[in-house]
Amino acid sequence: MIAKRMAQMDSSGIRKVFDLAAKMVDPVNFSIGQPDFDVPDPVKDALVEAVRRGENKYTVTQGAADLRDAIAAKMKADHGWPDAPLLITSGVSGGLLLAMMALIDPGDEVLLPDPYFVMYKHHVNLLGGVCVFYDTYPNFAIDPERIESLITSKTKLILLNSPSNPTGAVATAEEIAAVGQVAEKHGLVVVSDEIYDRFCYDAPFASAANCCSRVLLLGGFSKTYGMTGWRLGYAAGTPGVARVIEEMTTLQQYSFVCAPSMVQAAGRTALETDVSGQIAAMKAKRDLIYNGLREKFTMAPPAGAFYVFPEVPGPPGGSATEFCTRAIENNCLIIPGNVFSERDTHFRISYSTDEQSIRRGVDILNALA
Ligand code: PMP
Repeated sequence: MIAKRMAQMDSSGIRKVFDLAAKMVDPVNFSIGQPDFDVPDPVKDALVEAVRRGENKYTVTQGAADLRDAIAAKMKADHGWPDAPLLITSGVSGGLLLAMMALIDPGDEVLLPDPYFVMYKHHVNLLGGVCVFYDTYPNFAIDPERIESLITSKTKLILLNSPSNPTGAVATAEEIAAVGQVAEKHGLVVVSDEIYDRFCYDAPFASAANCCSRVLLLGGFSKTYGMTGWRLGYAAGTPGVARVIEEMTTLQQYSFVCAPSMVQAAGRTALETDVSGQIAAMKAKRDLIYNGLREKFTMAPPAGAFYVFPEVPGPPGGSATEFCTRAIENNCLIIPGNVFSERDTHFRISYSTDEQSIRRGVDILNALA
């Protein structure tokens, strides 16, 4: 009965982790991939007011005009894009799926970072594409030469994700420019998942927006405004991907239809809302976890998002699944690297939790190390 494509979508690894977690009492939960802060009040008010005003119907497929105007202004200010092609999406997830559907034919190769955000490889596989991973271990920096060495006549696009889930690594402007040159030379599209753009702690964020002539940028609201459940994002790009965004819009018309109308209304307010306090608080958590673990764990400095991705302690190559099972038995919920990687040598901590939990978690992990 079930379509064959579902056979490649194995979620047993992460389910095993959560089965174990279900038995934990008052655990330190380092597994949550979302901010621990709530939606700012003005944004909540804007949503409620939109509902009361009756903004409860479909919007046009490409997104409500005033939110589009606000994002277009942002693209102009941030990237110097005067008239960027634009589509309002149901989260970055929605944008990502539509982008992949518009770009990937069966057999096309897609260059993905390893470690990666789990969704990428499933989208590629669903469409009959081939995942080609560019390894970023051990420091999780992007190596343009490594990327170029993996390009074949079948390569279609290079996916970038900075700041990264699950590593917390942030790419430099130089690295991104060099990847852009590689993409340009080989006529590839760069799809840049910039959902964590505001979560950069040590240096200004470097966007891939202008790294080459064909950049499809995916931006989000989920993390920045703590509104993961509201489902809002956008796809924008250089003129070189205008056709891609057009096709994504057609696909949206026959699938998601539009992003939730009242959330689009609240999105306008979100863009005017200052979240620097929330970002500063996240940076303090980053410092707390990094300083707490750095003596006993090998970690690339986590400069962004709200994750660290330490190596499993002990003899090299130790299994992360085993270490995470032990951590879970000791009441600390962390996710083994093989959920986000072809390797199982590291583990992901999301430090987007309260300070007391971070301190407890640091003690548990250090004791295990
Ligand atoms: N990209 C990355 C790297 C993410 O970590 C996430 C959320 N975990 C998403 C995309 C999806 O975000 P959204 O809620 O906007 O669909």
